[in-house]
Amino acid sequence: MTGGEPKRFCRKCLLSDMPEDEYFRDLRSYIERIDEALKVPSDIYESRLAKCRECEQLISGMCRICGCFVELRAVMRKNSCPAVHPMWEKEPAVTAWQEDY
Ligand code: SF4
Repeated sequence: MTGGEPKRFCRKCLLSDMPEDEYFRDLRSYIERIDEALKVPSDIYESRLAKCRECEQLISGMCRICGCFVELRAVMRKNSCPAVHPMWEKEPAVTAWQEDY
């Protein structure tokens, strides 16, 4: 590096907070393509992500407990926060077939 500010590493960001690059665009695109019936409503999704943003286990968009990208984990109804004292809980499936996903 030739002087100036060293490149800073963001430890407290979600993917949506980070600079765009192909990998993260692909992940967001993947999330958008998931069946809506498997995903939580947007208000619950934002609430879950707000808790992740405040959590000390979040690093570079990933949860240090489970290793998941939290934006992917939090979008699924069947998922819950993996902490011993979960910050957010799973949502009931809309239909029986969803229990398998
Ligand atoms: S422990 Fe829970 S709240 Fe914290 S980053 Fe992981 S999923 Fe999010």
